[in-house]
Amino acid sequence: MALIEISGMKRHYVMTSETVKALDGIDLHIQKGERIILLGPSGSGKTTLLNCVAALDNPTEGNYSFEGAAVPRGHAEKMTTFRRENIGYVFQFFNLLQDLTVLENILLIQELSGARDTKRAVELLSLVGLEAEIDRFPAEISGGQQQRVAIARSLAKSPKLLLGDELTGNLDSATSSKVMEVLVKACETEGITLIMVTHDESLAKYATRVVRLDSGKIISDEKVSN
Ligand code: ADP
Ligand code: MG
Repeated sequence: MALIEISGMKRHYVMTSETVKALDGIDLHIQKGERIILLGPSGSGKTTLLNCVAALDNPTEGNYSFEGAAVPRGHAEKMTTFRRENIGYVFQFFNLLQDLTVLENILLIQELSGARDTKRAVELLSLVGLEAEIDRFPAEISGGQQQRVAIARSLAKSPKLLLGDELTGNLDSATSSKVMEVLVKACETEGITLIMVTHDESLAKYATRVVRLDSGKIISDEKVSN
């Protein structure tokens, strides 16, 4: 059984003058442990697809199952539960709390999603190479390090699927590479499946599979040979 099975997924925005077909018939099966990079021009539907996968948005049509069960739709509370149990998200802007230290940023998320576990928080920060920075504040570390904290934070609730939207979009290329290396290692260590949107072709080497979108459709879907 695939982790994700999507077939015929559409997301249409009906507006007065036109209908925007943000997703226009997506078929996608993803196995546990795959690392997918979604590439495509601006407006091709990448963010819409991630939002539908995360159950942040409701597809207009089509089927979507996760671990063999239909993903809830049109029911905010069930969608929130699905996200809480399964999905981690890393954003372009790191959104760390500035008044909390690196370690406290992780502990807070643990508290919100169950229980504080300092040992596990330190382990996650070590996994992203920040064991020396745990007592610093976000303003006292670099952008790349802040994004690594955000990755550790997204792992704190042990998601099955990690989603990233332009998560290196704010970083220079050397820093992007370091963040990607850390991300790949974290996904492998924790057994997490990754779907990541980018417009940076050079990041394809960190993926196991590259999916290209255009005008709401998949135009290519290829395994990466590393
Ligand atoms: P990408 O992330 O690839 O740049 P998006 O998924 O954000 O693309 O958008 C896909 C298409 O859907 C674009 O044409 C965009 O303008 C349109 N779109 C996205 N959100 C909305 C919305 N809330 N209302 C109307 N159109 C939207
Ligand atoms: Mg986008």
